[in-house]
Amino acid sequence: MKQLIPRAAIMTICAGLMSWGVVKTAQSQEKKPSTATSKSLNIYTTRHYDSDAKQAKEFEVKTKIKVNIVQIKEASQLIARVTEEKDKTEADLIITADVGNLWRAAQAGLFQPIDSKEIHKTVPDYFRDPGDLWTGLAMRARVIAFNKNKIKPEQIARIENLSSPEFKGRLLVRSSNHAYNQSLAASLIAVSGKDALLSWTKGVASNLARKPQGGDTDQIKAIAAGEGDLAIVNSYYVARLMSSQLPSDKELLKNIAIVFPNQKDRGAHVNLSGGGITRHAKNPQNARLFLEYLVSQEGQTIFASSTKEYPVRSDVPPPEVLQSFGRPKFDLKSITRIGAHTPEAVKILNEAGWH
Ligand code: FE
Repeated sequence: MKQLIPRAAIMTICAGLMSWGVVKTAQSQEKKPSTATSKSLNIYTTRHYDSDAKQAKEFEVKTKIKVNIVQIKEASQLIARVTEEKDKTEADLIITADVGNLWRAAQAGLFQPIDSKEIHKTVPDYFRDPGDLWTGLAMRARVIAFNKNKIKPEQIARIENLSSPEFKGRLLVRSSNHAYNQSLAASLIAVSGKDALLSWTKGVASNLARKPQGGDTDQIKAIAAGEGDLAIVNSYYVARLMSSQLPSDKELLKNIAIVFPNQKDRGAHVNLSGGGITRHAKNPQNARLFLEYLVSQEGQTIFASSTKEYPVRSDVPPPEVLQSFGRPKFDLKSITRIGAHTPEAVKILNEAGWH
């Protein structure tokens, strides 16, 4: 029988493909940003990776511009803070994960147009705000991890299939309050409308193996522990476990594989890490230069090799572990439409009982 999913999209996971540094856990570090000078750049970010510090360091060496990073745990806190600070804000640049969050920041009036020929040239328009208020910097797919002994990839060829009664009591996923699930839901409104999302979400809610809890990695652990048979997770969590040298991580993935869904139609839902220059930036030129650095060959390579995100430039190869997934098809058309559908998606997720 012909396979329903291209072979490249069905991964048997071999742990230990390459080494990967341990990512620091997210903690809010409320450092006071330094006073702006023409040779400085203040960034408010919700990201918390060693690679981000490395990019900042490399940028400092190249440009002699001092980069001050203020880490804020939640995007909602970051948006509230910059909103409150108004024109007194020290933030020149906002960096966060999730297009829904970037959209909210844009709606709150926190950005000014980036206006960079370099970014327009190198980052495809489907990764950028149509009004040029933010640009994608790195990409991740929302994929389905599953127990190879319990599920056939054909059963989960589409994300829509997860509402099927055959998965009753078997599905694991984090809370619908999380931006990753809200953006996934918003993308379903973008492609199929609100009614389709409501019935899908009701199906998902009734298939849950347990009350939503933990992060994406916790869902993978729960499959390994036999609490459920399949889970919705971001691609980089799986890629990081695959790259881990820890025997416990290898053990975790022994019976688990992933599918990039919707390969025969629109492609797997993807989301972005991205950034934008603040409306009241004191150093907008420096912020622009840093964004340009982040989408340079070097900046993109640092993202990909460390956090296992996909580059937003097609001329920068994904890290080896992502290449082992083949060349999945991604839903690139709906990315910039996700944000506007998020408020509606949140209402539907609550109404359907996936909390
Ligand atoms: Fe994450």
